[in-house]
Amino acid sequence: MSDMKIGIYGGTFDPVHLGHIRSAFAFLTACDLDRLFVIPNYLPPHKTICAGDDPHMRLQMLKIAFSPLPFYNDKIIVSDFEVRNQEVSYTYKTLEHFSFISKDLTLLCGTDNFLNLEYWKNSERIFELSKIAHIVRPGTYDESEEILATKERLKKRYGARIVDVPMAPIELSSTEIREKIKRGENTLYLLPPDVRAFIDKYDLYGEHNV
Ligand code: ATP
Repeated sequence: MSDMKIGIYGGTFDPVHLGHIRSAFAFLTACDLDRLFVIPNYLPPHKTICAGDDPHMRLQMLKIAFSPLPFYNDKIIVSDFEVRNQEVSYTYKTLEHFSFISKDLTLLCGTDNFLNLEYWKNSERIFELSKIAHIVRPGTYDESEEILATKERLKKRYGARIVDVPMAPIELSSTEIREKIKRGENTLYLLPPDVRAFIDKYDLYGEHNV
């Protein structure tokens, strides 16, 4: 067992976008991680996935997004752990798997996921196995009040260990990207050009898929 500081960043990444990429770097720096595993889910338990979804394509887009960064290549690992398992992807199970590598785990959550975390399957186990890194994601909720109340409740009820990851907020979602692509708009500066080329090559978010 190593004492490496390991970060876990899960999501659907359909597709990966600038908000995800910037979050990954902010997380790496703020928590001084030795390794960051970026893990696309196979089947998310709590959200509806696009018709025609192929988890392997989402995995491939993440690999493209994170590969041209030589300095970080040994730190950021795009993992096929959940895609390979081909079952509903529960975070507590993924954390149990990675806890065999190190006991120092931190899970990254944007605000939307952070506010719902306690309702995820076996959430007590999630709080037990890992610290939670929260990154602010602009949204429609009253950010400061709801976030503060949630932090206090999670600490009190579950003994959650919560850290804040500072990042200039980026108002962007995969939904927005899919809609832009469907309308044939450009996505410059919203996701890496190589990822957009991959999307166009396989027509991932055309009329029939969104
Ligand atoms: P969708 O629009 O399809 O729901 P999404 O953009 O929310 O997708 P996910 O793959 O569901 O992307 O997000 C994975 C993780 O990244 C979640 O913890 C989410 O909160 C976080 N995240 C997504 N977009 C941002 C952003 N712009 N800023 C900070 N965190 C983000």
